[in-house]
Amino acid sequence: MKKNIEKLLIANRGVSAVRIIHTCRDRKIQATTVFSSADRLAHHVFSAESAVHIGEPPPAESYLNMENIIAAAKKSDVDAIHPGWGFLAENHVFAQMVKDEGFIWVGPSPEVIESMGNKVKAKKIAKDANVPTVPGLDHVTSPEDVKKWIKDEKIAFPILLKAAAGGGGKGMVKVEDEDSIDAAFAQVRSEGKKSFGNDEVMAEKYIKRGKHIEVQIIADEYCNIYHLFERECTIQRRNQKLIEEAPSSALDERLRVELFETAIRLMRKINYTSAGTVEFLFDLETKKFYFLEVNTRLQVEHGITELITGLDIVGLMLDVAVGKKLPFKQPDIKANRSAMEVRLNAEDPKTFNPSFGSITRCQLPQGPNMRVVPGVYEGADIPPYYDSLLMLLMTAGPDRTDAIKVMDHVLGRNIRIEGIKTIAPLLLSIIRHPLFISGDFSTSFIEENLEDLISTFKDASNEDEVLKIARYLSEISAQGPQAWM
Ligand code: ADP
Ligand code: ADP
Ligand code: MG
Repeated sequence: MKKNIEKLLIANRGVSAVRIIHTCRDRKIQATTVFSSADRLAHHVFSAESAVHIGEPPPAESYLNMENIIAAAKKSDVDAIHPGWGFLAENHVFAQMVKDEGFIWVGPSPEVIESMGNKVKAKKIAKDANVPTVPGLDHVTSPEDVKKWIKDEKIAFPILLKAAAGGGGKGMVKVEDEDSIDAAFAQVRSEGKKSFGNDEVMAEKYIKRGKHIEVQIIADEYCNIYHLFERECTIQRRNQKLIEEAPSSALDERLRVELFETAIRLMRKINYTSAGTVEFLFDLETKKFYFLEVNTRLQVEHGITELITGLDIVGLMLDVAVGKKLPFKQPDIKANRSAMEVRLNAEDPKTFNPSFGSITRCQLPQGPNMRVVPGVYEGADIPPYYDSLLMLLMTAGPDRTDAIKVMDHVLGRNIRIEGIKTIAPLLLSIIRHPLFISGDFSTSFIEENLEDLISTFKDASNEDEVLKIARYLSEISAQGPQAWM
């Protein structure tokens, strides 16, 4: 096995690949990316030192095609493979294949990935480690199982049916009454089968007023397992995160310490190495938190943890992957900032329908306390095959109010994207909403306030442009004829 990384293959695209390239630059590691035919002119292709074509646009033929990715790694003679997030990042078969081919795998062991990849298995391990889990039924083989559980345990609606292998908010259906159980069960089972190749179903009580709070973990091969504080990702649509912040405004110091201890206990139990996240749902009504899942990979929102701690989590993953010891102990890690991230998706801000096409203008925000991870450039095309994430916008400040203020500058006057639709107007109206500002919101915030949020949109940038031209014209005519005219 190689023990040094001079050249790294990033088995991913877009924002995820670009983020990892940033660390490669800092460390003078040569980055190789992969691309499908649709991505031959993509930002991640130009940002890397080299790039290898791995197949046709559908993910199964390119970014999920393990053989082609391994072939690309051999062809470019890399030392290691980083999977980024999404695609093959949580695929234990791929992780094993990377190792068997003699490359360094930048991530936790295939065994750990496998054990946490199934929500039923993961929940059982969590229970065994004395980690509180959402009350539920682990093996649902028919709608009758669910009905019996509800009756026996006197469970109140709503409940949630989940595909055991689901991810990215997919394969989850909320059930409001007994009559909807049959259809929901059929839907979850078929979604699980279709998207994740697994039709196992589980049921859980639905936490109505919950905050999504997760703990970032970093661990090396020498049983050093530390937390890098928490992130709150409560602002979601369709169970997918849109805005993340650190620290969470919902925790007091006692709960925070308990959460960190619980997360570390679980990760210790499974011998975790590399970066990973333990996700919890915090019930605002009972003030209890419940284990959701472990993400055995770099997470989209890791950057806000980097902003509050000053660490480079991708860099730490590379160190751990080559067998280095973590360069700190728990008390050395300090967080003294508030940070916030929004996911700028190429979607209609009212309907969340994906938006494709050419980006005709792309003005990135600039200023103090801002960080941008772009996945695109001006002139780039957004193909319809992949995730809608265009770029990550992060801000920081001495406290939450400051981080929100900087984000307001970013979204309100700094960023300009034209040619495609983005959810920027929605993100802006969320961060200006009194409930968001006060911290009094749950995972249903967008659903509950959508009308209100949409009503604040200023319509179409076209109108802005017309106004701007009109203003110039009036200024010029007021000044009379000029020398340059
Ligand atoms: P997080 O946002 O916390 O990092 P997510 O579960 O939202 O984790 O997933 C991260 C990214 O990976 C998202 O862009 C999501 O769309 C994508 N993703 C997650 N699971 C899958 C999957 N099974 N197939 C394709 N993309 C996925
Ligand atoms: P995924 O693998 O898709 O990320 P998770 O189990 O992490 O699935 O859940 C994603 C989101 O779905 C959570 O952040 C939360 O908003 C919602 N969710 C999951 N389980 C429950 C539950 N039992 N009650 C209420 N909301 C839930
Ligand atoms: Mg999750």
